[in-house]
Amino acid sequence: MISETKFHPSTELLQEFAAGTLSAGLNIAISAHVEFCELCCHKTSEFEAKAAIDWLQTSEKHSSSDYSDMIAKIVSQPQQNHIEQQDPSLSEIHMLDHSVSLPKVLAKAASNGLVWKKLSGGIKQAQLNIDDETQCEFIYMTPGSQTPAHKHQGSEITLVLDGSFSDELGEYNRSDFIMRTNKDVHQPRSDEGCLCFAVLDSPLTFTKGIARLLNPINNYRFRRSMSQRAV
Ligand SMILES: [Zn+2]
Repeated sequence: MISETKFHPSTELLQEFAAGTLSAGLNIAISAHVEFCELCCHKTSEFEAKAAIDWLQTSEKHSSSDYSDMIAKIVSQPQQNHIEQQDPSLSEIHMLDHSVSLPKVLAKAASNGLVWKKLSGGIKQAQLNIDDETQCEFIYMTPGSQTPAHKHQGSEITLVLDGSFSDELGEYNRSDFIMRTNKDVHQPRSDEGCLCFAVLDSPLTFTKGIARLLNPINNYRFRRSMSQRAV
């Protein structure tokens, strides 16, 4: 595991992760961060234990069959996570033009093969169909690349997997978990190149220059991809 992580999921997000109430896309992003981050791994285990105790304390209100079901759920959920956490070694996969070590949950998601699309400014994107609530994608910023300035209509979560990038709010390295909301406008750039996993719950809005012309197309594409998955 890597210990120099500077940016982590919020406590609320980790609690929702432990309770199993997040979308599949967010679950994968947090799971992957937890594989990198000892601190969040420890916190998640604590939240899971607390949730289990809460279940037990409310057990008197339930019939014995409900009680058995609850115990089965309590026991099965933490066990699955502990199996993931017993062996924290990352999985090496060949991606783009080099090999990278990915958290197992993402290596598995990428193992079916990725279709990379070139976006403007030296950015490459490979989308994953994870759920019908979020857009999940690997983003590769080639060395020296910069995305157009943009803001978000909802939230964007970015997990740095390899290399580093920076924006107006900071510099981010491997294992950092960054959340941007509709209040933030930013323009990420990467000098050394950067591979990330991103989860968006709504399309981007470009705020400067010719990229603004793409906004209606982005909105349309986002809605279309969500509705296709919902079918
Ligand atoms: Zn963390």
